[in-house]
This record gives sequence, C-alpha cells and structure tokens, in this order.
Amino acid sequence: MKHIGAHVSASGGVENAPLNATSIGADAFALFTKNQRQWVSSPLSDKSIRLFKERCSEGGYDARYILPHDSYLINLGSPDEEAQQKSRAAFIDEMKRCEQLGLQLLNFHPGSHLNKISVEECLDKIAANINLALSMTQGVTAVIENTAGQGSNVGNKLEEIRYIIDRIDDKSRVGYCIDTCHFYSAGYDIVDNYEEAFGELERVLGLEYLCGIHLNDTKKPLGSRVDRHESIGLGLLGMDFFARFMKDSRFDAVPIILETPDETRWASEIELLRSFENN
Ligand code: MN
Ligand code: MN
Ligand code: ZN
Repeated sequence: MKHIGAHVSASGGVENAPLNATSIGADAFALFTKNQRQWVSSPLSDKSIRLFKERCSEGGYDARYILPHDSYLINLGSPDEEAQQKSRAAFIDEMKRCEQLGLQLLNFHPGSHLNKISVEECLDKIAANINLALSMTQGVTAVIENTAGQGSNVGNKLEEIRYIIDRIDDKSRVGYCIDTCHFYSAGYDIVDNYEEAFGELERVLGLEYLCGIHLNDTKKPLGSRVDRHESIGLGLLGMDFFARFMKDSRFDAVPIILETPDETRWASEIELLRSFENN
C-alpha cells in the first residue's frame, strides 16, 4: 500500500507537523524544519525534538515516509563563491536538523547556474557540496528533486540528476524525488506516454535511488519548463493519470507528497487517491 501525505505546516514548531498530517488522514508527510525563506533559524529545542519524535511514533509515521524539504534560498550550484559558502553552510545545518529529528531523508532542488557557468560546472559544484555535507553528517540521505527547468535551474533532465549521483562518494546516501508537475513541464509526457516516460526514469536513474514522489497536477503544458502546481485532477495531468499512478506498484515503497495549492482539499485528495489504489 502506498503512503500518501502532503507538505504540511510546521508553524509554531516542527512538533506540529505530525499533528497536521494526522488531521488530513496522511500516512506520510513533508515539512520544513526551519523557516524556508530565512538563512538562519534558531536551533531546534530539546523539547521540540522530543515532541516531534513522540508525535511521529503516536501518529505511526516511520522516518522512511517523512520527506523534509530544505530552504528555497539554498543554491548548491551557485557560480558565486560567497553565495555558495552560505548555501553549503545552510545545507549542512538542514542535514543536521534532520539528524537531530531522527529523519533519514532531505529533499532539495539541485541548484541554478544563473547563466554564469555551464550546466556541467554547476552540477560539479552541487556534487562536491553534497559530498561535503554527507561527510559531515550521518544517516541522512540527500534526495535530489527533479525540476521543471525554469530559469537557470538544473535538474530538469534525468541525465543531469544521474550526473550528480555518479559523482557522490557514498551511494547509499543519495537518491532522488520525482515531482510529477516538474516532470511534465520538463517534457516527460506522463499523460500520453506514461510507460515510456517512467521507463526512461527506470533506465536513466533506476528505481533503487527513488526516495519520494511529489504528486502534483500542473497548470502548464508539456515541455513549458514552467513550475505551476495544480490540485489533483484539475490540471493538465488529469484524473486518469492519477488513477493509473496509484495502481503503479513501482511507487509503493516511497513517501508520496502532495504540494497542491489548495490545502483545504488535501484530506479529500488523499481519500480520492486511496480510492484509486483500491479499485
Ligand atoms: Mn521542491
Ligand atoms: Mn516538488
Ligand atoms: Zn514545483
């Protein structure tokens, strides 16, 4: 059976995230472990850490199905040395926060070349920074999210994610997450060529590195490289895609996270997706 949830709020403290997940009937969830729009946050208190762990176990949330997301400010592939140093420090801090919370995964956007360096140079910097962060932490896997390829973001082509993974020293602590909105916007036709698109995923990246799915519909057309999420079934992916996806056993072992825009629909979206799985 699949584990489905949403990127829930951690406002008031990370310990509120598992409660928010339970309230929408989720059996997986994503969260920010710090304010995603600030460089520096105060360290997690012992009380927050204790309550987070207690509430995860009360809610039945195993760390395998919790997919924290890092800050939007971080660019591990930045061409600017100062920005890169800041990003590196913030990323290591994110990893350490996950470690403190007993979490095993950290999802992040690979980075942007800002049109100042080549894609390859950008990917090399990202790989070097992941290697450094992994060497300074324990037990947390770096989970690279595919992007729509908006602006100068890298990671819209599966080969770019493969390029990074190939350069990671500890292969047991690197993986990837597929965002279905980004995947379609990047040009992978999961609507009209479902088997071909996911076949390519298996061929280029392999399912052994798959650590999570961001399950979103999209407002923007195939190959548009624009990142605009839509509620389940209301966008261009459409209900048939989600029904098919929910029956696809290749995605049974990873957290499936909604990042759909209308959070008042999350509980019903989860219920609907479960009904597809069981029909
Ligand atoms: Mn993301
Ligand atoms: Mn996403
Ligand atoms: Zn997105």
